[in-house]
Amino acid sequence: MALTIVEHTRVLIVGSGGNGIATAVCLQQAGITDFRILTKHDEFGGTWYQNTYPGCAVDVPSSAYQLGCSLTDQWTATHASQAELAKYLQQVATDFGLYERTHFRTELLSAEWVDDRRRWSVTTNNGIYTADVLILVTGFLEEPSVPKINGATEFGGRIFHSSLWPRGYTGQGDRVAVVGTGSSSLQIVPAMQKVASSVVVFQRTPQWILPKEYRQFTEEERRQLQEPEVLHKVRDEVRRNMEQMWSAVFVGDDPEVAAAVEAEARKHLESQVIDPELRRLITPTHRLGCKRQGISDDYYPALQAENVQLVPEAAVKINGSTIVSASGRSFEVDTIVLATGFNFGGSILSRIKRRDGVTVGDYQQGHPRAYKAVTVCGCPNLFLVGGAGPNGQSWNGLGAGEIVGGYIAKALTWMRENGIEAIEVLEAAELSWKRNADAILARGASIAGGCGANYSLDEHGYNKAAWPGTESNMRRELSVFDHTAYIAIRGVNSVACDGRTPN
Ligand code: NAP
Repeated sequence: MALTIVEHTRVLIVGSGGNGIATAVCLQQAGITDFRILTKHDEFGGTWYQNTYPGCAVDVPSSAYQLGCSLTDQWTATHASQAELAKYLQQVATDFGLYERTHFRTELLSAEWVDDRRRWSVTTNNGIYTADVLILVTGFLEEPSVPKINGATEFGGRIFHSSLWPRGYTGQGDRVAVVGTGSSSLQIVPAMQKVASSVVVFQRTPQWILPKEYRQFTEEERRQLQEPEVLHKVRDEVRRNMEQMWSAVFVGDDPEVAAAVEAEARKHLESQVIDPELRRLITPTHRLGCKRQGISDDYYPALQAENVQLVPEAAVKINGSTIVSASGRSFEVDTIVLATGFNFGGSILSRIKRRDGVTVGDYQQGHPRAYKAVTVCGCPNLFLVGGAGPNGQSWNGLGAGEIVGGYIAKALTWMRENGIEAIEVLEAAELSWKRNADAILARGASIAGGCGANYSLDEHGYNKAAWPGTESNMRRELSVFDHTAYIAIRGVNSVACDGRTPN
């Protein structure tokens, strides 16, 4: 590995998904142009570049799933496919000149704050980058969660995680096992059902599924969407609906609405699945939202097709070419798809060293936190965006980038105007914000919903994923840079931004 310093920039943005793009655009629009983007991928698009399994598509309406700085009228259907989404994000990156500012195939391995130089030193596989400000936009569904299945390494056929789909593999004529029944599986199973000779689906926990109501736009609708007022109206309406569901289900603000959403999922199941025994096997016993609910029109029909079999058990073992369920049922297969999810947020905070040399992961001891999901005590000039920040997720996978990007731009502008070299959030502010977030989210389905484990929970059972409110609330909370929550460093002096002397 080369250890030369590649370059110094004012700002280093790590991540090239939708939120990385949005953050870069926000900085640009605020006149902050001395930045570099690093990404381990070889293209823009993040999750929509990485996940290419057959059937991959957004499961919330695409009219709302786009950046406000670059609305598009090009969607061909209510829910855009992975290819359409990747193309859209790459187009935005092109339009804003981001390719020239990006070093691809460059992964952050570790980063440390160099106190006497007031800068971050970032070690990558391509050398060291330094920057005054480090922004992590590394996503929350980046690091595959692969269950321990005995014998997996000796399997003679193909075995892979859903996010590492082999290029060109179609499943045509194969005997395919799909492990897991989360949102990825709900898209993979119908796609495999169409082409594979058989599909066996391992379901450890049933999950609630809402109808997607997917359809292609008519020519007339596509023409109407070219009118900016129509585009905004449709987008705002979808956003309102999604926000209402998010706040009722995940934040636990409105039990009546949450019950109505669950009733809709139950109705969907009952209308699509006739066989009472199958219904029983796939009906969840937890509250909707305890695990992120599925959204699909074609999963239940696929499950009832002749070539598909549901195994309502975990996959625990592989013997040669056979995959074995918890009760010992064996299935001979050619391919095993591990649709087994992700480690939320990944290990990024364990790669970042605080001012005192301890990693954020070690310091926070399994209870990840950041002030307003953005700044971390002990880490001057570090900003987290979206899922890189604990509690940075809202209903809209692309919303946080624009909101937090705007907050960061305001912070950097405030620093410039006040001659401040570095800011660091006060620990008291961070802890108090997180305490409040934990209390709010304790009412939501992820904790109170009765499903036991889910990927939102930290080692202590707190929700590390969700913003504790609606996206509108996130926008309000981050609409100004609240400098009184920070210590500012100017020259050799550090002062609390409200004038107090810091601890
Ligand atoms: P996931 O929701 O975490 O689901 C993982 C599944 O694997 C669960 O059903 C889990 O069961 C199961 N599992 C793990 N080990 C198993 C084993 N040994 N045997 C049987 N089952 C096993 O992961 P995902 O489906 O990849 O979805 C992750 C997130 O990606 C979603 O929540 C969503 O936010 C996002 N996503 C979005 C879209 C979209 O269209 N926008 C599409 C796909 C994914 P348990 O429930 O028992 O743990």
